[in-house]
Amino acid sequence: MMKIVLGDITTLEVDAIVNAANQVMLGGGGVDGAIHRAAGKELLEACLKVPEVRPGVRCPTGEARITPGFNLPAKFVIHTVGPVYRGGGCKEPEKLADCYRNSLALAAENGCKSIAFPCISTGIYGYPVGDAARIAVREAREFLKTHGDMAITFCCFSQGDAAIYEDLLKGSAQ
Ligand code: ADP
Repeated sequence: MMKIVLGDITTLEVDAIVNAANQVMLGGGGVDGAIHRAAGKELLEACLKVPEVRPGVRCPTGEARITPGFNLPAKFVIHTVGPVYRGGGCKEPEKLADCYRNSLALAAENGCKSIAFPCISTGIYGYPVGDAARIAVREAREFLKTHGDMAITFCCFSQGDAAIYEDLLKGSAQ
């Protein structure tokens, strides 16, 4: 099932929360900063242990990595790196879909039954929220066809974002 929550993702009692991280995975602004602050410094230490695939890159755009949640109510943090929006012609939709697909797969591999996503890429990375939400919901629906027992929360940080998701979920089997 899918649901929408308006609020701070760091407070959610789910198996995994998803972090809109950057490639180096050492914290940043927006939701990333909030998650690191709430999880405590052990999260940074765990991120440092994630091997670099090339200098300065622990998680390439579209991929996902998992760490414990430490002081968070969530058991795990799944770090994924959304695309920076450059007009839509630079494979941003594909990369954003990869974020949702890879995060959901990693959650399932780790036995999670519930996961919460922020609106990946729609803050500092500039992805138009309506377009991003359509991709998020499409990928969640696709995943639920084979993992019907996963509870997927879209954690919106503004009423406007929540209204967009409400529209997308309306009238659909959630
Ligand atoms: P990105 O760099 O991927 O764009 P941001 O963190 O800048 O990531 O923004 C992604 C989304 O997360 C935005 O909608 C922003 O409002 C939202 N956000 C920021 N802080 C939180 C939080 N504590 N809980 C949930 N969502 C948050």
